[in-house]
Amino acid sequence: MRMKITMLMLLLFASIQTSWADSDEVNLYSARKEALIKPLLEEFTLETGIKVNLVTGKASALLQRLLTEGRNTPADLFITTDAGRLHRAREAGVLQPVLSPQLSSVVPANLRDADAYWYGLSQRARPIFYVKGKVDPQQLSTYEALADSQWKGRICIRSSGNIYNQSLVASMIANIGETKTEAWAKAFVANFARPPKGGDKDQIKAAAAGRCDIAIANTYYVAKMLTGKDQDLKKAAEAVALFWPNQSDRGAHINVSGIGMTSAAKNRENAIKLMEYLVSDKAQQWYAQANQEYPVKKAVQASPTLQSWGEFKSDGVALSRLGELNADAVRLMDRAGWK
Ligand code: FE
Repeated sequence: MRMKITMLMLLLFASIQTSWADSDEVNLYSARKEALIKPLLEEFTLETGIKVNLVTGKASALLQRLLTEGRNTPADLFITTDAGRLHRAREAGVLQPVLSPQLSSVVPANLRDADAYWYGLSQRARPIFYVKGKVDPQQLSTYEALADSQWKGRICIRSSGNIYNQSLVASMIANIGETKTEAWAKAFVANFARPPKGGDKDQIKAAAAGRCDIAIANTYYVAKMLTGKDQDLKKAAEAVALFWPNQSDRGAHINVSGIGMTSAAKNRENAIKLMEYLVSDKAQQWYAQANQEYPVKKAVQASPTLQSWGEFKSDGVALSRLGELNADAVRLMDRAGWK
C-alpha cells in the first residue's frame, strides 16, 4: 500500500513537472516553409515569452502524421494551405473548434470555418494570366468564357490532382451548379495546349516560352517570380499580365492559408494566443508580405506587387463549402477528362 502511494505521489509530481515544462510552449505543425513563418514566431516569443516549437513538412504528410499520432501528437496547432485541405483536416477529426471573438471579428465569415474548426490567415487569388501582345484583355471576361473555341490549344493549367484546381472547380459548382460546370469543364479541357504537367510557375514559364497564351496560377507564385532573384523566372513572369475574371458577376476565385487547433492540443491557451497574434496588424502585414499573399485583415496593406494588380472583386462563397464540394469536383474533373 505504502509503495503504491509513493508511486502515485511520484507520478503526480512527474505530471505536474511536465505541465510546468509545457506551460510556456506551443507546438505548431506547418505546411509552409520555415522562412515564411519563423521570424513571426520569434517575434511572438519575444512578446509573450511563449516558445514555439515548429515542425514543417508537406501538407499531406503533416495531416497523415497528425492522424498517426492521434491523441499522442505533440502538435497544438496545424497550419496548411487551401480550404480544401483545411476541410480535409476537419473531416479527418484532427481539429477542434476554437471560439474567439477576436478571430471571428478579424477573419471575414467566408474565410473561416462556419463551426470555427479553422481560420484563414492569408488570401491568395487564382486569376487568369495572359501573354502580353498575344491576347487582348478585351477578349477575356470569365473563367466560363475560357471554354470558348477561340482558346483551342492556347490554355496551360496544372493537373486535376492539384487542390487549387479542385477548389476552383468546387467554386464553380457552388456558383453555377454541377451540370453547367461539367459542360464547361469538358470544353475547357478541350482547349488545353498540352496535357497538364508541373506546378503553377511551370504554367507561367510555358506561356512565356510560347507553348500557350493563357495560364491559370495563384497570385503569390507570379508575385514571387517577379520579385525573386532568378532572372529567368522574372522574365517569364514579366511576359504575362494579370486579368481579374468574373468582375461583373461573382468575382475572382480566392482561397486561403489557414490555421486550426488540433483535437489533441495540450497547450490550448498558448495556442489561442498564437492564433490571435497571427491576425494582429503587425503579424498580418509581415505574414502576407513574406508570402506575397493578401492579408485577411482588411485594413492591412498587401505588398507593392499585389497592389500593382489593383483592387478586385473576389468570390464571396464560403470557403468551407469548397471543402464540402471537393469530392464532387474531383469526380467531375475526371469525367471531363482533366488529367
Ligand atoms: Fe502553392
